[in-house]
Amino acid sequence: MDNILTIVVPCFNEEEVLPETLKELGAILIKLKNKELISNKSKILFVDDGSKDKTWNLIEKYTKELDYVGGIKFSRNYGHQNALIAGMTEAVEFADMIITIDADLQDDVNAIPEMIQKYLNGVDVVYGVRNNRDTDTVFKRRTALLFYQLMKKIGVKLVPNSADYRLLSKRAVQALLQFKERNLFLRGIVPLVGYKSDKVYYARKDRFAGTSKYPLKKMIHFAMDGITSFSLAPIHLIFGMGTFIVLIGILLMIYSIFEKFTGHVTSGWSSLMISIWLIGGVQLISLSVIGDYIGKIFTEVKKRPRFTIEKIKFNEKFKQ
Ligand code: UDP
Ligand code: MG
Repeated sequence: MDNILTIVVPCFNEEEVLPETLKELGAILIKLKNKELISNKSKILFVDDGSKDKTWNLIEKYTKELDYVGGIKFSRNYGHQNALIAGMTEAVEFADMIITIDADLQDDVNAIPEMIQKYLNGVDVVYGVRNNRDTDTVFKRRTALLFYQLMKKIGVKLVPNSADYRLLSKRAVQALLQFKERNLFLRGIVPLVGYKSDKVYYARKDRFAGTSKYPLKKMIHFAMDGITSFSLAPIHLIFGMGTFIVLIGILLMIYSIFEKFTGHVTSGWSSLMISIWLIGGVQLISLSVIGDYIGKIFTEVKKRPRFTIEKIKFNEKFKQ
């Protein structure tokens, strides 16, 4: 039987949760192997995204002790999305299906058997969708909702409340890896791959240990990336705004010529000041949005690697 599963786990400073993550994922793997739902060659692949703590030491230790654990170490922090891509690039060589899951155990590992079942029934993409957001702060819940609404409005297809917890078949991963862009936003790209997809619902828990590796700044970057990687809507919006302002300008011009000829000349200082600041602001915002797109072109044309691997640790039996 050939249903080799590889679970790809990105880790960034996760020494506190890693032992528990290994325990839970290992248990699920063994259970599925015993039930003969997946091949005995199924594995877990940790990707250390340039951690500063003992994460890599732990991964290295696990790869020595356990045949079914492998590790990739980045030379520095390249970000969550790139860690996922690296893990999938490596795993797609020997796996028939790949599940990606965060290291912090927020995503319920018990949804894995259901994902596998769907895969065995012929589904290529199985999204893990959280059915609650109770564990999130009000702020995160609000901003997430706003983000999904915005993305929908500008025409990006996302599966709401699904993060990077999903199963992909070998051919879906191969298709995904054909998307060569540097500015990666997997959540938006996976639906573009097509193939038959399904969802598995689960309750998202609190982080098992440690703190979030996504501070507000990273979150805003991530959201901006999502928007500007998929849509030109902000530029269209600026165009609309510009046209509107030009129209007002023409009206004002007619008005002031009329005033001049009727003799009501005022000093006009306040209206001038207001216009300068207002239009200056609009211009700056517009420039920054356009700059964002140009920045994207800049990073894309350089074709820099998405990540650099420093070390790969597998047990001899790992790739068999
Ligand atoms: N992560 C990563 N690189 C980063 C930031 C995060 O590989 O630069 C990993 C992290 O170790 C975790 C996953 O991405 O496995 C999700 O991060 P986290 O749980 O901190 O995000 P949150 O759930 O708070 O959004
Ligand atoms: Mg988390």
